[in-house]
Amino acid sequence: MLEVHRTHRARILNHSQVAEMLDVHGWSASKLWNVANYHSRQVWDETGEIPDHGDLKDELKGHNKYKGLHSQSSQRVLEELAEAFNSWKEQRKSDKRANPPGYRKKNYYDQEGRRVHEEHPRSTVTWKQNGIKHDSKNNRVRLSKGANHKEHPKAWEYVLCEYETRPGVTVENLQQVRAVYDKAKQRWELHLVCKDEVETPTAPGEETAGIDLGICNFAAVTYSTEEADLYPGNRLKQDGYYFPKEIAKCDDSGGKEATRLHRKWSERRTHFFHSLAKHIVERCIEKGVCRINIGKLSGVREDGNGESKNWGKHGNLDLHGWAFDRFSNILEYKAKVEGIEVVEVDERDTSKTCCVCGTEDENQRVERGLYVCGGHDDAFNADVNGAENIRLDINNNESNSESSASLGEDRSTGWLAQPGVYLYDLSSGFQPQEQVVDCKP
Ligand SMILES: [Zn+2]
Repeated sequence: MLEVHRTHRARILNHSQVAEMLDVHGWSASKLWNVANYHSRQVWDETGEIPDHGDLKDELKGHNKYKGLHSQSSQRVLEELAEAFNSWKEQRKSDKRANPPGYRKKNYYDQEGRRVHEEHPRSTVTWKQNGIKHDSKNNRVRLSKGANHKEHPKAWEYVLCEYETRPGVTVENLQQVRAVYDKAKQRWELHLVCKDEVETPTAPGEETAGIDLGICNFAAVTYSTEEADLYPGNRLKQDGYYFPKEIAKCDDSGGKEATRLHRKWSERRTHFFHSLAKHIVERCIEKGVCRINIGKLSGVREDGNGESKNWGKHGNLDLHGWAFDRFSNILEYKAKVEGIEVVEVDERDTSKTCCVCGTEDENQRVERGLYVCGGHDDAFNADVNGAENIRLDINNNESNSESSASLGEDRSTGWLAQPGVYLYDLSSGFQPQEQVVDCKP
């Protein structure tokens, strides 16, 4: 059996009864975020380290703001904050001006510059198992209040929400409830995360695929059926120039506009990753793939000083190690549901080895995105060459891995030179493009 999580959005039917209490919890989440944020910045200034969510919990569990939410909900806020600090830490390796996660509040000042009022946004509040009682028959869910907001009698220790999902949706095995405030509608809604068990799917076939991730082409994919696809990353690259520039223009780097731009950038990236993973998995189904090898970047990201090193073909400007990790995780999840296994393989030497004859060349010439092999006198797409070496798992000496030599030098190589190219469009996803895109290294 295979476990999958599905999220169902639900409308709250008794909104007028629960809105006030959800507001209080949303504000509590913002306040806890701010306290933990302040603490994290202090630790960072003093030690150059970022506390993880466990450290934060130890530090703050006695704090009054921690009791504004159910303990598991408070923990979730601390986890989110630690994640945000970690991606900031990663980001500042290449961009020293990157700002740490902001505070969730807005201050109002009088003419003398004194703060007269502060306002907290309604943060998303997450309840995990211990904070949830679900009545699936009557579509009701009881969410535990924070200790600070509990009243007597006992019935008032919960926020009781009556909800409605889209028709045909059954809410079972509820794992998590997120209360999310929709600013435009001025309403709270619930995101219900359910665990589903499904029959372990059978793989679509016995073929294999290899994926090489990079900057110019975000992904190059080869299939054992002797076909190759390229997914240019120009959309991500454009965003990588556009958003930092726009964010730098903002007067207040932690302000509303800067935060909005950061969120938009991140949403666009997430959308790209999901569409790409979906497209690749669909292609794998068409081609009967049971296993996808993906190049693993480990060990090349940092030198001894914790500074980013030259990542070679992956560049270090606008995409970071975590972007690749993030994409791999999404791909792995989408593939697993189709019975396709995703395996991380060592990508050492995959860009300087010829995938046809196995010649390894330190001074490998890559011209206009072409891999030129002196060993067997041929040229083909450099990223496709890398992907094919990853598919062949050339660093694995076990007998079950195919080797370039065992495939024979007389196999056709035309497909390595002429991959299909899929271009990304926000509204329609990935669409095939006729001509090959040139990419200067
Ligand atoms: Zn060769």
